[in-house]
Amino acid sequence: MTRKLFVTTALPYANGPFHIGHVMEYIQADIWVRSQRMQHAEVRFVCADDAHGAPIMIAAEKAGKTPQQFVADIAAGRKQYLDGFHIAFDNWHSTDGPENHELAQSIYLALRKNELIEVRTIEQFFDPDKGMFLPDRFIKGECPKCGAQDQYGDNCEVCGAVYAPTDLKKPYSALSGATPVLRTSEHFFFKLSDARCVEYLESWTQDGRLQPEVANKVREWFGRDEAGQVSLGDWDISRDAPYFGIEIPDAPGKYFYVWLDAPVGYLASLKNWFVKNVPGDAGAAFDAYLAQPDLEQVHFIGKDIVTFHTLFWPAMLKFSGRKTPDRVYVHGHLTVSGEKMSKSRGTGISPLRYLELGMDAEWLRYYIAAKLNARVEDLDFNPDDFVARVNSDLVGKYVNIASRAAGFLAKRFGGRLSADVGVEGRVLLDGLRAHAAVVREHYETREYGKALREVMLLADRVNEYVDQNKPWELAKQDGAEARLHDVCTVCIEAFRLLTLYLKPVLPATAARVEAFLGIAPLAWEDAARALGAHTIGAFSHLLQRVDPKKLEALFEPPPAPPAPLPGGEALAPEIGIDDFAKVDLRIARIVSAEAVEGSSKLLRLMLDLGEGRTRQVFSGIAAAYAPEQLAGKLTVVVANLAPRKMKFGVSEGMVLAASHADEKAQPGVFVLEPWPGAQPGMRIR
Ligand SMILES: [Zn+2]
Repeated sequence: MTRKLFVTTALPYANGPFHIGHVMEYIQADIWVRSQRMQHAEVRFVCADDAHGAPIMIAAEKAGKTPQQFVADIAAGRKQYLDGFHIAFDNWHSTDGPENHELAQSIYLALRKNELIEVRTIEQFFDPDKGMFLPDRFIKGECPKCGAQDQYGDNCEVCGAVYAPTDLKKPYSALSGATPVLRTSEHFFFKLSDARCVEYLESWTQDGRLQPEVANKVREWFGRDEAGQVSLGDWDISRDAPYFGIEIPDAPGKYFYVWLDAPVGYLASLKNWFVKNVPGDAGAAFDAYLAQPDLEQVHFIGKDIVTFHTLFWPAMLKFSGRKTPDRVYVHGHLTVSGEKMSKSRGTGISPLRYLELGMDAEWLRYYIAAKLNARVEDLDFNPDDFVARVNSDLVGKYVNIASRAAGFLAKRFGGRLSADVGVEGRVLLDGLRAHAAVVREHYETREYGKALREVMLLADRVNEYVDQNKPWELAKQDGAEARLHDVCTVCIEAFRLLTLYLKPVLPATAARVEAFLGIAPLAWEDAARALGAHTIGAFSHLLQRVDPKKLEALFEPPPAPPAPLPGGEALAPEIGIDDFAKVDLRIARIVSAEAVEGSSKLLRLMLDLGEGRTRQVFSGIAAAYAPEQLAGKLTVVVANLAPRKMKFGVSEGMVLAASHADEKAQPGVFVLEPWPGAQPGMRIR
């Protein structure tokens, strides 16, 4: 029977590009999905941008965009990463899509009908300048415990204290700097404390579907007091306008908290796949798909969002009458050389830079897979280890097998394999074939490290066989033609099997191998087959060694200008607002302009900066402007530049003008002119 799998990764928050942690999770899930597809499971593998919430609303406002435009711009950048790292989602959607609005509201209405929604009045900090309630992360102040300044509203990063925003001393809004005021508001709560929820979740989380360490951690939430009562807190699922999110039905000005509609985005992206791919009634097809009793719903997530996926999400689904997740696969975080990633300390790996440097995505896929297991452990990226594993395992052990045999086969046997390889070869190949089930099972249980160790041990066996049979010597001996043919055939057959076992991790390399061997895409059942007297194609390069220089470049700060500007000039180093404030730019009226005798470049300008006197400024614009074009116009001047003594007199300032970096190659100088209404002496800030 065909296994049916609905698989997701966590939805990335759409306030920035992917970081290496996202890519690691997608690779983990993608490997699992590819292995399933290689055994003909029917998989729908989807993800989406998590688009809602206050941080995106605020970031969009800062960027001068609507939240929708802000999120769309982020989404437009996703494809290069997904394609670049061979991550084969069936669909990518957004939690702001119509499917998610509809699904989130319908789930909420079902929970309300089930009497699991309660309205309560709460007190919350309100920013009087911005006219909005403040999320905890946007309230700062002095830690109530240690007095550290500028701490967030939920916890202190100095002493680690956890508190409510109302406990902060001298609180202020991180948005406006205003002192927040306490205001009451009606909030909607999902009653997780309801006995039905407690009973259901305790069973759901402890029935063996979760990893043991996750189930153990979750068990703590079901601790009982002396009266035998479990106290799960109710969950505040509403936020007040202004908010970028989904409106709560029958509650004007109230929106779902982003974490309510984010996981619903899994279903919305799946539904959107049906909209795109199934003609006719996509909604009915989606409902029918989810109603299949043998459908397995699998979520891959990081350890930081376990609560949402093992309490809120299954309860939301269960008590709205929907299918609940079958598995939640939790992974640890990625560290770099033992340190938690931090952009400011420069230890993060930029996945985009990795691709831009021309590093092979499959090196990273292989390295990450080699270090992944089924437990919730952090995974360390160690550059030296990375080079060693890729170069010695992938290139040294695996690719080498093909390159050692392919040349002889092409030159001596027209690329045709031997129909029968003799006893020794058969024993080796049967041994390799016998491991297919073990390797596949390691992929199934997400023990990718074990799978790859197994494959490399098999590669070692093949390399020993090559070293013992020495095809390069057989090629020189008279009468050893048949043995040479057999040995090379064994190598190619072994290489095909190893490629099959590595295919979930190395899909692009596997595709190149399939083309080289002239075979159909490899699936798990192909392990039991033999190529026989098959003719292979020409061997071409499959995989390069890691260039340590590129790896070094990956850890260097990226070069200063991300892209050349139209003027062809690199951006100057970043400055703070204080640096900018040092430059006093003023509007000036050009009272008069005249040519300078003895200079073809300079014009002498007399400028009025509203100081009750005129200044003399020499400006190198004679080639671009005739003096009579300039007299009477307004322009922009650096007013606090130290006076410079020039051959023709003292220059008391500098007129601003734009030009290409290489004025000879691309001539043209353009003086700035303010919009109408500016007055001499006004400061530009
Ligand atoms: Zn503190």
